[in-house]
Amino acid sequence: MTDNMQLLTSTQDVIKEALDKLGYDEGMYELLKEPLRMMEVRIPVRMDDGKVKVFTGFRGQHNDAVGPLKGGVRFHPEVDAVEVKALAMWMTLKCGIVNLPYGGGKGAVICDPREMSMGELERLSRGYVRALSQVMGPAKDIPAPDVFTNAQIMAWMMDEYSRIDEFNSPGFITGKPIVLGGSQGRDRATAEGVTIVIEEAAKKRGIDMKGARVVIQGFGNAGSFLSKFLHDAGAKIVGISDAYGALHDPDGLDIDYLLDRRDSFGTVTTLFEDTITNKELFELDCDIIVPAAIANQITEENAHNIKASIVVEAANGPTTAEATQILTERGILLVPDVLASAGGVTVSYFEWVQNNMGYYWTEDEVREKLTAKMVDAFNNVYTTATTRNIDMRLAAYMVGVRATAEASRFRGWA
Ligand code: GLU
Repeated sequence: MTDNMQLLTSTQDVIKEALDKLGYDEGMYELLKEPLRMMEVRIPVRMDDGKVKVFTGFRGQHNDAVGPLKGGVRFHPEVDAVEVKALAMWMTLKCGIVNLPYGGGKGAVICDPREMSMGELERLSRGYVRALSQVMGPAKDIPAPDVFTNAQIMAWMMDEYSRIDEFNSPGFITGKPIVLGGSQGRDRATAEGVTIVIEEAAKKRGIDMKGARVVIQGFGNAGSFLSKFLHDAGAKIVGISDAYGALHDPDGLDIDYLLDRRDSFGTVTTLFEDTITNKELFELDCDIIVPAAIANQITEENAHNIKASIVVEAANGPTTAEATQILTERGILLVPDVLASAGGVTVSYFEWVQNNMGYYWTEDEVREKLTAKMVDAFNNVYTTATTRNIDMRLAAYMVGVRATAEASRFRGWA
């Protein structure tokens, strides 16, 4: 089975279990086990050398019973339709967990933006919107940034849609630059959301954030913002890593110094001689571990060696199903990805609301609203897990899928 197939089937397994626990029958699982609509488009783009290259793009729309679809568009050489399906389903869960009036969607284009010029990227972004404009829109399906896409790409996409629609449509897409109707705080929203759930989890375990020892795997967008926020909150970051290795200091690393030295891809460990491996990183003495890099990092091989009492998944799918069970049995509090990383889509929702009313909030207002949503979401999932005596992932899926199942039932779809 490919990794992406694995991702889809494990998502389906937990959704099935969650629906069972909520008392839904097989018919509801039949409806929700895959996106209702899955589109594959071919996008011709004139490249800088004068030749036309045809790219393949996708948009998966899981279920819009609750409201319009919402979710990012990633540009990645290895993405495929199966991955897009799973990721669209995750967006339904995230939106359900933070209680947003959306269903889940996800888009992708197979390409490597690191090897494309700005002009090529602009033509590809506009081409993606032209190919899908009929099935997307501010009240249908609202895209956003994801892996290797950013505010500039959102700006081109918004402009293309506005031209097609003959109407300025900031609500078509979120994650835009501020001057085009972007929201304060959207760029750091995912890391801010992770920080908020870490603080809530720490309270449950009686850990004071001042002096708490934290290990963060990954120093990219999420990992770097996160290390800064936690450092500023008084935590001791005792380990960080990038794709090449890890740094460790039991007294706490100098985060400001490392952030200063980090390159735009999040690489910093190559500047040091005294490094440890990513494997050793997970076995460090600490209170909290945050995998903020890639999938399948905590497995049945290393789950027994983790010393932290809290694991917070800032990355997508860093813990395997077997490892989830081991950590839960060992009494380690696991905050699952669909909960921990929901801060991004939450501030995207705020951006869309602000676009719809044409009135904009301050950074403090956004932060206050994000905090309220994340704290509620954490406590909802935590209470579900403890009262039903189930792991936090299953609890998060139960909270996440409930609104879509209920709305689908009312609409007569299942
Ligand atoms: N791509 C982000 C995610 O997967 C954000 C989605 C959004 O803001 O709509 O959660």
